[in-house]
Amino acid sequence: MAEEKELILLIEDEPQMRRFLRITLESHGYRFVEAGTAQEGLMQASMRNPDVVLLDLGLPDLDGLEVTRRLREWSSMPIIVISAREQERDKVNALDAGADDYLTKPFSAGELMARIRVALRHAVGQGSGRQGPVFTVQNLRVDQAQRLVFLDNREVHLTPIEYKLLTVLIRHAGRVITHSQLLKEVWGPASVNEVQYLRVYMTQLRHKLEADPARPQLLLNEPGVGYRLRSDID
Ligand code: CA
Repeated sequence: MAEEKELILLIEDEPQMRRFLRITLESHGYRFVEAGTAQEGLMQASMRNPDVVLLDLGLPDLDGLEVTRRLREWSSMPIIVISAREQERDKVNALDAGADDYLTKPFSAGELMARIRVALRHAVGQGSGRQGPVFTVQNLRVDQAQRLVFLDNREVHLTPIEYKLLTVLIRHAGRVITHSQLLKEVWGPASVNEVQYLRVYMTQLRHKLEADPARPQLLLNEPGVGYRLRSDID
């Protein structure tokens, strides 16, 4: 049986660059899917679950940095940013946002192939813990591609920080996450000691998501350590 070829998703609005990459990638034996806007790219990423994403930063509807952040809310799929922006800060920002690598236009086909091979090898090294965009446990369902939260199929409205907190917990579902890890991921490194933030927002989240906020079944305390989101394996 033929080996399944790796799927590359390209999010890029320039037709010429799309054509160049389509020809290059298909001639190297990769499967290829393309999107001309950020919204279409995010949809394709959630539907097709590509092995690597090639992402332009200058897109007509959303900045590529924001696309990276949204993908990272639910996926560890390798993201290689391709951009004409040469500023050091753009590269740092892209990597901080969760991109794995960065290619400055113009680049050669050989360079691109090398980066893709590295990204694929790294993804394999991380193991098979690939997560889908929809998280469910008990009566809670979170669609991270659509950014919607449901309890018993009724939509629950969360503030941006509540939602962020929930997505960080989902990424570690079933495992304990420390206060400082949570604070760093939700509020940033300068806030690692602000444990009261966590208490306030965790209380709000429990009031929205738990049947009895005083006896949480989903958002569990790990006294003195942090929190744990219940997972289906528990
Ligand atoms: Ca562009």
